[in-house]
Amino acid sequence: MNINWYPGHMKVAFDNFKKNLKLIDIVVELIDARIPFSSKNPKIDEILENKPSVLLFNKIDLADEYTTKKWKEYYESIGKKVLLVNANQNKGLNNLRQILEDELSEKFKRDEQKLIKDKTIKMMMVGIPNVGKSTLINTLSKRTGAKVGNLPGVTRNIQWIKTPGKIELLDTPGVLWPKFENKEIGLNLAFVGSIDDDILDVENLSYELIKKLNKIDPNILKNRYNIEFDLDTDIAYIMDMIGERRGAILKKGIIDYDKVSRMILREFRLGKLGRISLEKVSDFFG
Ligand code: GDP
Repeated sequence: MNINWYPGHMKVAFDNFKKNLKLIDIVVELIDARIPFSSKNPKIDEILENKPSVLLFNKIDLADEYTTKKWKEYYESIGKKVLLVNANQNKGLNNLRQILEDELSEKFKRDEQKLIKDKTIKMMMVGIPNVGKSTLINTLSKRTGAKVGNLPGVTRNIQWIKTPGKIELLDTPGVLWPKFENKEIGLNLAFVGSIDDDILDVENLSYELIKKLNKIDPNILKNRYNIEFDLDTDIAYIMDMIGERRGAILKKGIIDYDKVSRMILREFRLGKLGRISLEKVSDFFG
């Protein structure tokens, strides 16, 4: 579900998040592996204050492996604990407990001094829309399917999900607003589907995606649609060729640009164009 973010919505999201933050030991911040910069909420560090957190790159099956490795190295170099995950296929979660424990080593030391033996970790997911929070919660809950029930003393209907490794997971994720810093970030968010297509011009978006993909590697589109073009070929002409190949043609032989545009976006989002990272570490950090 996507949301149109207005200052009022941001405040509500922020307030809810703050309340839930008090109930947990650690935050798992989800980002989209294809856009590790743009899919990070701009205020996350402020929002977290000093709450421990780990960074989870989701949808790694859709991103370029080498680029993801470089991003992981970058975030680790600035002190983040990073997990690479494919929530759909339950991959990359085996050392979740270990990573959380590493990040929480101070807490466990304090607990030990206080002779607290319970090693349960309470956590919540947070991230901008569409990064896979619900999918991941489902994936983790399927591992046991057990609900812990309401917390005593909490009037709202907060449910905890028991997952293996003594992790209790808040069943509602924190939904945070995306960055609105510039056009390029906005486009990247739209390409991966974190901003609703209904509020965007699909043809324009697809036009921009073609431009972007050709910058990354012109063979992506050439191979997928079996077409030929040069660096200076008009994008509209490339859309024409794709439309012809796929039979997206209206009466009188006119290309159905709406259909072509939606198809390109859908195929990109589903990974049919290959594993593509839209952002590299070097685009943002030295
Ligand atoms: P949320 O808005 O953050 O809760 O995101 P959802 O859990 O609703 O996921 C958004 C879309 O991403 C859904 O279509 C999921 O099936 C898809 N998705 C989630 N995780 C993955 C993943 O690891 N790989 C792929 N390819 N798709 C995923």
